[in-house]
Parts: sequence; structure tokens; C-alpha cells
Amino acid sequence: MMKTDEKLIIKGKRIDGRKPEDVRKMKMEVGVIPNAEGSALVSFGKTTALASVYGPRPLHPRHLQESDTGLLRYKYDMATFSVDERKRPGPSRREIEISKVSREALEPALFLKKFPRTVVDVFVEILQADGSTRVTAINAASLALADAGVPMRDLVVGLSGGMLDGKIVIDLMGKEDNYCDADIPIAYLPSKKEITLLQMDGRLTPEETKKIVRDVLHASKKVYEKQVEALKKKYSE
Ligand code: ADP
Repeated sequence: MMKTDEKLIIKGKRIDGRKPEDVRKMKMEVGVIPNAEGSALVSFGKTTALASVYGPRPLHPRHLQESDTGLLRYKYDMATFSVDERKRPGPSRREIEISKVSREALEPALFLKKFPRTVVDVFVEILQADGSTRVTAINAASLALADAGVPMRDLVVGLSGGMLDGKIVIDLMGKEDNYCDADIPIAYLPSKKEITLLQMDGRLTPEETKKIVRDVLHASKKVYEKQVEALKKKYSE
């Protein structure tokens, strides 16, 4: 976490004019890639993620197949042009870690045991990065899985929260992520009331941590509503 002399909250407003508890403007659309079985384009402010899903399909090579369950594969990739200074292509340690925790965040929503010997592939490309990309990616992936018709208990909803200038803020943008005291990305499975991803960068007291988690879960209802709306929109057209 870096330090800055710049105030990131002035008179109760954040640098983009939001109140601490506000989520950025969300855009969500499913079925954007005809060649994929399911797809979704999701943005929170400038952060934009494109997810595509293929499968369930037989897993090759066959020795990787599991006889009692299907597998989920998840690839998170930040496009070279998604940040101001060109990102090196190819998976970094950060992207490999994000791919693993995001796969684990989605698995509890899926009925993979119904599809032994198969694989479901999720590819998420971050087209534009301005903070909270992993949770934006999870929202896109979750919608793309639903769009593909992969049997799911519920959508997984992703949202971040953190502590900035001593205040709890929701949905951190890039600059806030850089200078905040701590940030917590969360993924949540509403129907099971289960947190499926919880990470923390920075330092917080246990009380602060609990309060941020509670506030993020509260604000996540708006994200979930937007997801449902995006899915319904496709099927009402
Ligand atoms: P998340 O995007 O999930 O919050 P991080 O905390 O690792 O994950 O990254 C925070 C933000 O930092 C990203 O959303 C992005 O705006 C920026 N960022 C991450 N990696 C890079 C990079 N290689 N170059 C420039 N900016 C980056």
C-alpha cells in the first residue's frame, strides 16, 4: 500500500464523486460472443471484463478426467492494453493466483458431479483495468456460466470493499486500491449465504474487517440485481 498526500475523500465524496458506500456505474450484458456457449461483458466504471464459457465437454487428455465429477478451469488474463503502461503478456504469478481463487469461488455454485469426465472452461479477459478486476471478472464469469446453461445453484456475486482515509468504501477504483489502508475482494453465493472468496491486502483490526465484509455483502445485493436483470434481458428479447 502506497502513501499519498492527496486526499481521496473530500467532504464525504470520493475522487469520482461517489459516496463511500456507492458502487460504480455497472454495465452487464450476456450472450455477446456467438461462438462461445455462454458469454458476458461486465463493467464497473472503467474496469471491464469479458468472460466466455465452453463446455461441459469431454476432458482431454483422458487421464485428467475424473470419473465422479466434472472439472472447472478458469483463466484470468489482463490484456496488455488494459493498463496505462503496457502489461507484459503471458500469465504472471498474480494472474495464476487470481485464476485459482476465482475457480474456487465459482465451484460451490456448480453441479459439476452431474458431468463426470468433462471440463467447463471459463476464460476472462480484463479489457480495461481500474481496480477490483478479480471481482468484476467473477461477476462476468458467473453470468457467462448461467448464459451457457451450466446447471448452477445461484449466481456468484463479486464486490470489493476497503478502508480509505479511515472510512469504509465499497468497490475500489484503481487509485483507491493503490492508496487505501486495506482492500478486501469478496465473492458470495447468496442462496447458500456462503462467502466463496475473501482476500485482504493491507492491515485491519478484526472489527474493521467484519464491518467491511458486512457492508460489502449489503451492497452486493445491487450487483446481484443487476446480474439477474442482464440475464432476464437476454431471454426476454
Ligand atoms: P484487483 O484488480 O482484483 O483489485 P489487484 O489488487 O492486484 O487486483 O490490482 C489492483 C489494480 O491495480 C488493478 O485493478 C489494476 O487497476 C492495477 N494493476 C494491477 N496489475 C497491474 C499492472 N501489471 N500494471 C498496471 N496496473 C495494474
